[in-house]
Amino acid sequence: MRRLIITALLALQTTPALPWGFFGHKMINRNAVFLLPPEMIILYKPQLEFITEHAVDPDKRRYAVKEEGPRHYIDMDHYHPWDSIPSSYNRAVAKYGEDSLARHGIVPWWIQTMTSRLTKAFELKDKFAIIKLSAELGHYISDAHVPLHTSSNHNGQFTNQYGIHGFWESRVPELFAETEFDLIVGKAQYIKSVSAMAWTIVRQSAAAADSVLLLEQQLNSRFRPDAKYSFEMRNGIITRQYSTAYSKAYHNMLQGMVERRMRESILATASLWYTAWVNAGQPNLQELAGRSFSEKELEEWQELSRQWKEPGLPGSSCSN
Ligand SMILES: [Zn+2]
Repeated sequence: MRRLIITALLALQTTPALPWGFFGHKMINRNAVFLLPPEMIILYKPQLEFITEHAVDPDKRRYAVKEEGPRHYIDMDHYHPWDSIPSSYNRAVAKYGEDSLARHGIVPWWIQTMTSRLTKAFELKDKFAIIKLSAELGHYISDAHVPLHTSSNHNGQFTNQYGIHGFWESRVPELFAETEFDLIVGKAQYIKSVSAMAWTIVRQSAAAADSVLLLEQQLNSRFRPDAKYSFEMRNGIITRQYSTAYSKAYHNMLQGMVERRMRESILATASLWYTAWVNAGQPNLQELAGRSFSEKELEEWQELSRQWKEPGLPGSSCSN
């Protein structure tokens, strides 16, 4: 009887892998706002809820827009050596072709595109575009910091570690970010080369991907199978989760890697917002701060939410 129940439970939905767990993306954008100089805080702080909530818009869009998916990752293990990858998108297209690039992901190039768009929005003093693009740029920067967003084995599917994507970027932060992580990071910094920064981020992520996989394999081999998972109620559904003990052990083995990458995501996000503003000539944002969004602008956001299914339902997961 007991076995029957366990089998039935195992058949239940395992919580899907959400990118930085939605929770993480929101936390990163939210924390990034406080790293900005006062001239920018004046615009960003009143929009804190928007910037937090809309940190996950790019993932919501993945199911409606075909081009969206590749913007969230890059399979760095597809390229040898890494130095051979052109840092400019146009040269990369000339070398590999657009289809191949799309197949293996384009996040480091997309970060540059989004930063340019944000710079333009600052030049135009377009408040809606500034807030929207800032929220979304934070998403792509954060995805680039996740080691498994830079590996073709993105959910452990080649190594029988299915679920590890969400384990690293959702489960661990959800359990420990609020209680154990120190997310006070310092101040936004001016970035001279956005391209160099984007490539550094994905190279660091790719260099860590093997450890992310290997350490979980080691942990798995020394953990009792029945202690690896627990069952929790989420959105009214019993879901199978990596147990707290297993998550804690993994977090310890990673020696704070998740926290470190989260901190770096926060700093990089604020720094690129700041850089876009500086490159646009440091427009005065005070006059924009009091302006409210138009009906049409708000509708655009609401439409995206309408298209989006609630997290936890099929189609809402975001592994790369
Ligand atoms: Zn994403």
